Amino acid sequence: MDNCIFCKIANGEIPSATLYEDEDFRVILDLGPASKGHALILPKTHAANIYELSDELAAKAMILAKKMAKKMTDGLKCDGFNIVQNNGETAGQTVFHFHMHLIPRYQGDGVGLTWKPGKLSDEDRDEILKKLNA
Ligand code: AMP
Ligand code: ZN
Repeated sequence: MDNCIFCKIANGEIPSATLYEDEDFRVILDLGPASKGHALILPKTHAANIYELSDELAAKAMILAKKMAKKMTDGLKCDGFNIVQNNGETAGQTVFHFHMHLIPRYQGDGVGLTWKPGKLSDEDRDEILKKLNA
């Protein structure tokens, strides 16, 4: 993708604060961090979102997220850790190159990643099960 900023960052054409790099991925610090150490896993090949990502890279990305969670938790001494991944504008995606957010959490940090729980109605449950288990 010629005009994709995360392609350029992942492949080193645009400099970034890099925490990790291998042949498939670069992990960089987010420039608009939710918390201290907020980082992004970027694949070096372009996929706009999870729907376009290959199974192979999806599997590798999850393993890398796990490694980074351990490394960052040990290094930053955070109290918890969120892994967030947005797909589509409605879901909050703003850069259309697949990425995983690695968000260290600190007690009292006020990072707002929560939602107000609803209630699963019998009607919704039945409708969803019918749609997805057909
Ligand atoms: P999302 O909303 O899931 O698409 O996340 C995009 C993330 O990319 C946001 O957290 C931005 O702060 C971050 N971001 C955008 N441009 C850059 C950049 N050039 N370098 C590092 N992080 C960026
Ligand atoms: Zn890209």
